[in-house]
Amino acid sequence: MNQCNGYDQSCIFCKIVNRESEAEILQHDDELCCFRDLKPGADHHYLVVTNRHIDSCFSLRREHVPLVEKMVEMGKAVLLKHHVADLADIRYSPQCLKQLSTIQ
Ligand SMILES: [Zn+2]
Repeated sequence: MNQCNGYDQSCIFCKIVNRESEAEILQHDDELCCFRDLKPGADHHYLVVTNRHIDSCFSLRREHVPLVEKMVEMGKAVLLKHHVADLADIRYSPQCLKQLSTIQ
């Protein structure tokens, strides 16, 4: 199995989390980082990624469920902070679950 934790030099999200790549970071904690999409597909297009590198959804296990739920919560919190009140009108697109984007 591929290495699923730690820093991956070829991964843009790892670089963003480590502040090595330009991104507007909106919120972060010890597990997750939320930033504005570099090429937004909507007015509010944010990505929530894990601080620890996860190769793909195939690396995810049952114990990651709370983390994925936390990603959704952080996405919602950022949307609320940006005055997106209608949380019913949100699309979540897990892109191989390395990232979770919320688009309105
Ligand atoms: Zn990574």
